[in-house]
Amino acid sequence: MESRVPFNPEIHAKLPQRIIRLEELAYNFWWSWHRSARDLFKQVDRTLWTTTRHNPVRILLGVPQERLEALTKDPAFLRRYDAVLMELDRDLANGHLWYPQAHGEMMHPIAYFSAEFGIHTSLPIYSGGLGILSGDHNKEASDLGLPFLGVGFLYEQGYFRQRLDHSGWQEATYPFLDPHEVALIPARNPDGEEVSVCIRLEERAIVLRIWEVKVGRVSIYLMDANVDENAPWERELTARLYGGDREMRIQQEILLGIGGVRVLRALGKEPKVWHINEGHSAFLTLERLREYIAAGCTLEEAKARVQASTIFTTHTPVPAGHDVFNFGLVEKYFHDFWPQLKMSRDDFMALGSYGSGFNMTALALRMAGRTNGVSELHGEVSRRMWHTLWPDRPVEEVPIGHVTNGIHVPSWIGEAMHRVYRRYLAPDWIERQDDPILWTRLDEVPDEALWEAHTYLKRKMFATIRERAREERMKRALPPEQLLAYGLLLDPDALVIGFARRFATYKRASLIFRDIERLKRLLHDRYRPVQIIFAGKAHPADEPGKRLLQEIYNRARSPEMGGRIAFVEDYDMHVARYLVQGVDVWLNTPRKPMEASGTSGMKAALNGVLNLSILDGWWAEAYNGRNGWVIKPEREYDDPTQQDEADAQALYRVLEEEVVPLFYQRDRDGVPRGWVEMMRESIRTVGPRFSTRRMVKEYTEFYYLPAMAEILELEGD
Ligand SMILES: *Cc1c(COP(=O)(O)O)cnc(C)c1O
Repeated sequence: MESRVPFNPEIHAKLPQRIIRLEELAYNFWWSWHRSARDLFKQVDRTLWTTTRHNPVRILLGVPQERLEALTKDPAFLRRYDAVLMELDRDLANGHLWYPQAHGEMMHPIAYFSAEFGIHTSLPIYSGGLGILSGDHNKEASDLGLPFLGVGFLYEQGYFRQRLDHSGWQEATYPFLDPHEVALIPARNPDGEEVSVCIRLEERAIVLRIWEVKVGRVSIYLMDANVDENAPWERELTARLYGGDREMRIQQEILLGIGGVRVLRALGKEPKVWHINEGHSAFLTLERLREYIAAGCTLEEAKARVQASTIFTTHTPVPAGHDVFNFGLVEKYFHDFWPQLKMSRDDFMALGSYGSGFNMTALALRMAGRTNGVSELHGEVSRRMWHTLWPDRPVEEVPIGHVTNGIHVPSWIGEAMHRVYRRYLAPDWIERQDDPILWTRLDEVPDEALWEAHTYLKRKMFATIRERAREERMKRALPPEQLLAYGLLLDPDALVIGFARRFATYKRASLIFRDIERLKRLLHDRYRPVQIIFAGKAHPADEPGKRLLQEIYNRARSPEMGGRIAFVEDYDMHVARYLVQGVDVWLNTPRKPMEASGTSGMKAALNGVLNLSILDGWWAEAYNGRNGWVIKPEREYDDPTQQDEADAQALYRVLEEEVVPLFYQRDRDGVPRGWVEMMRESIRTVGPRFSTRRMVKEYTEFYYLPAMAEILELEGD
């Protein structure tokens, strides 16, 4: 019989024995990237599926007992239930997967530290691309069978909900996350005891409770300071992403890096490889130095071991984006730490010193033996940017490589496209997704089938947008004028451009508004109209970002745009899914080279949506002249205003001369043949390459395995 402690006693008690494992399924986000499991929960209660925004834990808490009893007598449901659980069991037994097959002798844990994880909308502990990437990385590590675990924070007031007031000003609300209603499990050590750890911050002792999140075979451990033992201000430490001042920030990063290592120790985990995803967690290298020295290593030996076993990925191509603390602040929190490393203050500060402060990226670069940027171009930019750390080497020998980001294919594929690929590529195309040969079979997909799948996803997006507008109208009694901005007047047959991402100013959401008259000609063309859907949040402390958002919103509802521009509120993984699947063109206008990689365009391409982008980040690698478009200015300028102008002109030109004509060039049965050909080329070139499948395999072969071999050898000495 079952001996484990129920994840949720309330759910456990109400589930009939025949379907008792629904609890286990609800507590493993594996369900979120397996259509059959999603359908199962949908079938439990379709209304709750929608009102809980796809949260199985809340569905099981809310569903009436009678409904559960009835399901145990529904043969179709039971068949599906048995099939899903069989699939889960088969997947969780990992022997057949890539990593154990290829590297079975190297089954040593790899720990992945990140300040954000974007796993599912119901767990809002991400704020943008970095978090989505970590979530996708962990899902893929599960799919490939890597011995992997994650470490991060549970932000109980995580990614905020966005709403715009009547003037278009962003209002942020932070719905409090009740751990009881999300798939969070109190973490236990090998003896089955719940674990908490205590971390000193100056004079205070902060108690952290640990939650486990199951993502297929991978567990992510989240630290949470919201416990009775902590004073109110201490509980705030893990309440929000990137909130508070510099002092709060250093405290958070101490908890993440140093606390994170202690959490793993308390759980009995012995990682051999440590992956620092962006500089926030770089203090972990100091804690590991301390451990080695306490165990009797010299400082040199300890450093060699930490370097051998640490991987660092940098994500930020702008100097201001990196975390820097002044030395006084570092001194305040580390003055009794460096003696434990047998280091002087100056030698300790030198580990992170860069310019006039203690720089987390510099610390990570010095302490990690293997480091990388997140696209080929970003690798190059990073080598130039950090050249001063290796002054006696030529810039091309600065030891920063690159692994281009990717997306977790099963999480982002739209169902209609999935059906086409299943039929024409292979029934198991997801398992074989990084085989380029498979994708050549796209040639066999009839134009009509590809176009129809796209049209279906587009209609689905429109239905969602209209439904949201209707609900808002009822909830808030919005004036009709405002409904323009919600997209009620959008025409499902006309060309739709999507622009959805964080409203950071470098992403230049308003570039397309530089020449209003020229834009209006595009929007209001009688026979070939253009429409644009925007979505995105500005960081609550980013005033310029919020003003930008307000500008777009007011454009959207201005009569002059005639309802051809919409703003979808509350961008998150859920909204992202239907936008990247449902628009025709995905627009990306960063100020080059500030987009380190970008991943939303990859999600779009996988679903047959065409990219129109500045030649920056991942697109500089992916664009081949036939699989989408580039916004190519006449020349590059040093002055940002001149550059904006040149980029905007290039954008209008490509829209007028290429994008719009190709979309509206139809044959007798209404299929845009040239467009569909480009869709095919885009899917074929992006699908196998810009996936986390390719990405995690590269991390494994060029980073994790060499690090593992090196540390095993050092420790074997
Ligand atoms: C994919 C995704 C991102 C990343 O988009 P970029 O292309 O990097 O701007 C950000 N937020 C959400 C919700 C996403 O799904």
